[in-house]
Amino acid sequence: MTEIMEKAPVNHTDASVTGRMSAFDHEQLVFCQDKQTGLRSIIAIHNTVLGPAVGGTRMWAYGNEEDAITDALRLSRGMTYKNALAGLNIGGGKAVIIGDARKNKSEALMRRFGKFVNSVGGKYITAEDVGISTKDMEYVRLETKHVVGLPEYLGGSGDPSPVTAYGVYMGMKASNKELTGSESLAGKKIVVQGVGHVGEYLVEYLVKENAEVTICDIYEDRVNDVVKKYNVKAVDPSAVYDQPMDIYSPCALGATINDDTLNKLKCSIICGAANNQLKDETIHGVDVLKRGILYAPDYLVNAGGIINCYWEIVGYNRQAALSQTEGIFNTALNIFKKSKEENIPTYLAANQLAEARIAAIGKIKMTY
Ligand code: NAD
Repeated sequence: MTEIMEKAPVNHTDASVTGRMSAFDHEQLVFCQDKQTGLRSIIAIHNTVLGPAVGGTRMWAYGNEEDAITDALRLSRGMTYKNALAGLNIGGGKAVIIGDARKNKSEALMRRFGKFVNSVGGKYITAEDVGISTKDMEYVRLETKHVVGLPEYLGGSGDPSPVTAYGVYMGMKASNKELTGSESLAGKKIVVQGVGHVGEYLVEYLVKENAEVTICDIYEDRVNDVVKKYNVKAVDPSAVYDQPMDIYSPCALGATINDDTLNKLKCSIICGAANNQLKDETIHGVDVLKRGILYAPDYLVNAGGIINCYWEIVGYNRQAALSQTEGIFNTALNIFKKSKEENIPTYLAANQLAEARIAAIGKIKMTY
């Protein structure tokens, strides 16, 4: 499997579903439908060398089925890398439900989905993602035990966002240490784009450390709340890339590191919670390196949430989850070292470390 991941994808031009699975060596795709509840869903299992595939369920009004398949394939592969690099003994998977979460979601739909998750027999363990709430996971839990991210009153690990924010904070400190020799963020101009669940907890850490924080959000009430609570500055979302800043922290959307934004951004570090920040890894991952910007790989620094969920699988212990999340600091330093020594972009250094762990553990599993 690793051999294939390291090489250019095989069957690159084969557009059939199994051809696309083969391109990045996905193990299994499960198509699920239920007329009565209107459920249309795909469970994607990318790789189970390290353990059962774990990753959230996304509910989204995809334009067509092709887009849903593409998202499931891409996201599940991303989870393999994230889980491997975080040192977790779980593989990568993800599920998508086709539909508008505000209009099409119901208890029956989520429970039917739970039955499909159950039918995979524990090879895939689900959790929340975009469009899915903790309450939805409670419905899923009624039909399968293969679910994490449950509320604390059900014995779960609760909201993962504070732990995610802690990991991003660790990644930021490591990035600053790499550039300046000091991990302290005091006095650093940091722009946090998006102050939702993760962004707000991150702002709290940064303000405590006396960083100069500027925030933005598309919702005025979020901006007002955070400005009032933490006494930080705010800018209009449209002006965010023109701000003077040391650190840009994308905590809203993906693909914000692209040709347009890189021509404006004057930061020396990019480190945030958003998934898939580089619009195109092979273009913008290289571009940041050429521009002398230190990019902390997104799936490394935002792994706190999945680390928290992992501890729910093995026996929840908040302190253990936080300690493991703290390890993001050292992993980031290792990635920066590898990037510098081999003159490769940080995203590639991260990918290679994840692939090396899967290959090494895979070999151990070959013996009885
Ligand atoms: P969230 O929805 O609670 O917060 C996102 C915030 O960004 C919202 O307040 C939203 O209004 C704002 N926003 C949206 N578009 C914006 C724009 N153009 N400019 C400025 N603000 C904008 O989500 P979250 O749980 O805080 O997650 C943030 C990011 O981190 C997401 O990309 C998510 O996939 C990723 N992530 C989250 C976790 C977690 O534990 N929650 C874990 C890993 C990765």
